[in-house]
Amino acid sequence: MDVDVVVIGAGQAGLSASYHLLRKDADFVVLDANDGPGGAWRHRWDSLTLGETHRVHDLPGLPLGEPDPSLPASQVVADYYDRFERQYDVPVRRPVHVARVTSHGELLHVETDHGTWRTRVLLNATGTWDRPHWPYYPGRERFLGRQLHTHDFVSVEDLAGKRVVVVGGGTSAVQFLLQLAPFATTTWVTRRPVEFVERRFDAEWGRQVEQRVAERVRQGLPSGSVISNTGLPLTPAYQRGIDDGILVARPMFTSIEEYGVRFADGSFVEADVILWATGFRASLDHLAPLHLREPGGGIKVEGTTVLRDPRVQLVGYGPSASTLGATRAGRAAALAATRYLGELAAA
Ligand code: FAD
Repeated sequence: MDVDVVVIGAGQAGLSASYHLLRKDADFVVLDANDGPGGAWRHRWDSLTLGETHRVHDLPGLPLGEPDPSLPASQVVADYYDRFERQYDVPVRRPVHVARVTSHGELLHVETDHGTWRTRVLLNATGTWDRPHWPYYPGRERFLGRQLHTHDFVSVEDLAGKRVVVVGGGTSAVQFLLQLAPFATTTWVTRRPVEFVERRFDAEWGRQVEQRVAERVRQGLPSGSVISNTGLPLTPAYQRGIDDGILVARPMFTSIEEYGVRFADGSFVEADVILWATGFRASLDHLAPLHLREPGGGIKVEGTTVLRDPRVQLVGYGPSASTLGATRAGRAAALAATRYLGELAAA
C-alpha cells in the first residue's frame, strides 16, 4: 500500500494534522490502534468529567461547543472526535496497530498488524497513553496488595474500603485523592515537595510551561509532558483538601514491603493498594529502528520536523503534548509534510 503521508494516531494531534492535509488535498491515511474515535481520552476514567480537565481545545473547523461539564471527558471527547471524523471524512483505518517503522531508501515502511504501508512522510501522533511510567522502588515485586497506574484506574468504587497509597505530585494524583477520601484511607507520597500555586491555569501559564518543555526538547533531552509541568493551581476544592489533611503529602517512601511501604525515618504505612499516578512517556517504541534519539535520550525537532530524519514529523510530542499544543503542531506538521513532498516533486 503506497501513500504520500501516513499519520499514526487519531487523537487531537493526528486529527488536527488531518484537517490541514485534507485542505492541501494530500494523499494520506490515518492508522489508529483504538477501536473507535477519542484517542487516549476514550480510555480515561468516568469520574474525570469535562469540568475537571485542564480544558479540551477546539479542533480546527469544528468547535467543541459547550458540552455539559459534568459528563465524563472520555464520552464528550470521543463523541466530538467522531463528529469531526465524519464531517471531514477523515481517512482513518482502525484498529490498526503500528509495530515498527523502518527505512528503505527514500521510503519508510510502516509495518502494522494489518499489513505494511509504504510512505514518503510519516506524521507521528501517538501520544503518551500507551507508555505509563512506573518508577522503580525496591521491593515492588514483594508487595502482596494491588498496584495500578493512572492508565488502569477505572473508578473510586473499585478501591472502596481499601488503604491506598497514592504516588505522584500531579493533577491526577490530587484528583484521585479527593475522590477516594470519602471511601478509602489514603496516604499521599511525592518525590518532591508539592507546591500549590495561587494562580488560575490560564493561557500565559500554559505558554510558560510550553517554553520550558520546548527548551528541553531543543537540548535533545526527554521532554516530560506539558501536563506534568503545569503545577497545581490552588483551587477552593484543593484548599479544602489541604485543610482536611487529605492533600498533605509525605516524602516518597524508600521501599515497598509485603503489606505496605517503608519511609526513610523507619515508619511504616500499611497498604492494600499502591496507585501510581506517576505520569507517562512519549509512545515512540515503534520508531526505534529509525534511530531518532540523541545521546541525551530525547529527539531533537525543528518545529515538528525531526532533525535526524526530516521525513518524520512529531506531533503531540514535548511542548505540543496538550490539546492546544497538539492542535497547533498538527497544522505545522501538515504544512511541513506537504512542503517536503512539493520539494521532492520539484527535485
Ligand atoms: P492521544 O490522544 O493519546 O492519541 C494518540 C492515538 O494514537 C491514540 O488513538 C492511540 O491509539 C494511537 N496510537 C498510539 N500508538 C499507536 C501505534 N503504535 N499504532 C497505531 N496507533 C497508535 N491535555 C489537555 O489539553 N487538557 C487536559 O485536561 C488534559 N488532561 C490529561 C489528563 C491525563 C490523565 C493525561 C494522561 C493527559 C492529559 N492531557 C490533557 C494531555 C492529553 O493527553 C493531550 O492533550 C492530547 O489529548 C493528546 O493528544 P494526542 O493526539 O497527542 O494523543
